[in-house]
Amino acid sequence: MKIYSTLTRKKEEFVPLKEGEVSMYVCGVTPYMDAHVGHAMSYITFDVIRRYLEYKGYRVRYIQNVTDIDDKIIDRALGQNTSTSELAGKFFSSFSEDMAALNIRPADEFPQATREIPKMIEMIQDLIDKGHAYAAKSGSVYFRVTSMPDYGKLSGRKLDDMMAGARIEIGDEKEHPMDFVMWKASKPGEPSWSSPWGPGRPGWHMECSAMALKYLGQSVDIHGGGQDLVFPHHENEIAQSECATGIKPFVRYWLHNGLLKLGDEKMSKSLGNLVTIKEALKTFSSDGIRLFVISSYYRNPLTYSLQALEASQKGAERLAKAAALENNGLLPCTIDLESFKTAFTQAMDDDFDTPGAVSVLFDLTRQINASKDAGMDIQNSQDLLKELSNVLGLTLTQRQAEPTEAKPFIELLVAVRKRLRQEKQYALADELRNGLSELGVTIEDKPEGSAWYFNKE
Ligand SMILES: [Zn+2]
Repeated sequence: MKIYSTLTRKKEEFVPLKEGEVSMYVCGVTPYMDAHVGHAMSYITFDVIRRYLEYKGYRVRYIQNVTDIDDKIIDRALGQNTSTSELAGKFFSSFSEDMAALNIRPADEFPQATREIPKMIEMIQDLIDKGHAYAAKSGSVYFRVTSMPDYGKLSGRKLDDMMAGARIEIGDEKEHPMDFVMWKASKPGEPSWSSPWGPGRPGWHMECSAMALKYLGQSVDIHGGGQDLVFPHHENEIAQSECATGIKPFVRYWLHNGLLKLGDEKMSKSLGNLVTIKEALKTFSSDGIRLFVISSYYRNPLTYSLQALEASQKGAERLAKAAALENNGLLPCTIDLESFKTAFTQAMDDDFDTPGAVSVLFDLTRQINASKDAGMDIQNSQDLLKELSNVLGLTLTQRQAEPTEAKPFIELLVAVRKRLRQEKQYALADELRNGLSELGVTIEDKPEGSAWYFNKE
């Protein structure tokens, strides 16, 4: 199996540190608002990677942090007259609901920043002792980038080039403009924790270094996140972790997903062009959304559009229908299941080529439909379709036709039809029933009255 690593910029043979086991860390959310479909893209991607590794027989330990304290949370809590912990708790449950609705399996653990402060303080002190960090007058602690000769290796930046672009601000207490904060002295009124350098809170980069090391050990097999995290976040995670432990590499394979765009722009809070996962799920099923994401190679940017999602939704329904076909064929099936399995595995072994894997599912679906028509026993092929779909996190549940908004209008038409029948206007009543039937609503006349239901497909 080959995986592209951002650090080496090439596909490498995947060899985990411990045979048969994979440690995996993915940067988690900052819960201060509802998660959007950009989050869905990232977490679906890493869910599929985790599922595939397990399918290959690896035991995967998957950690995802929760940044439950940062500037945005503090601002938002202040604006809503609530505490930071209450706000973060509320939006983390909302996030968990969204993940479950998208059939994304929860991480093995979700460590929260505010509960891991001792570990972070210990690591910061260690970096100070080793000369990699210093406490400034304000009480903030910074990482000393000049103490690490290969700083910038993940993003391919050199300190000298970064210097040229950096602005030295007056009153800046840092030794070097690229030094970054690991412990932030708190301003009056902000939530704070006590530390050897005074009251403050941990920086975001420190949070991920400390949690990865604590929960997964000194070398992590896979570290994931969006491409927007390469610099500075992941660059700084490497600096802190490798300088603290003295062990390289901190991460064996760095995986970054492409970003979700809306039109030509990145979907982001600051541009105000967010679609929340909850909104998307009102129109599309979990399988529809997942198929939209995995039909594109994870490292490429993906453009959100209703047309693309509608197409994926139809695709998801095609797969579900084939899996649910009644198997009453008696002839032996001629589908070569092994070749489908091989093609699927080959695609996924090539840096998780999910578009390739998805096309295998559709080929199999076409053959299942044809075999069913030819009177063959399709049981084993349907089982394989379900098995491979499950590796991609597709549930193959058929979407219930439940246009609930239509309900009151249908009731009204059914009531009008009843009146017509009472007045013996049978032709008009039948016209109404036939019209509704064409729209997917069946009316059944029973002695106790007329019942109606949405047609089953
Ligand atoms: Zn992180």
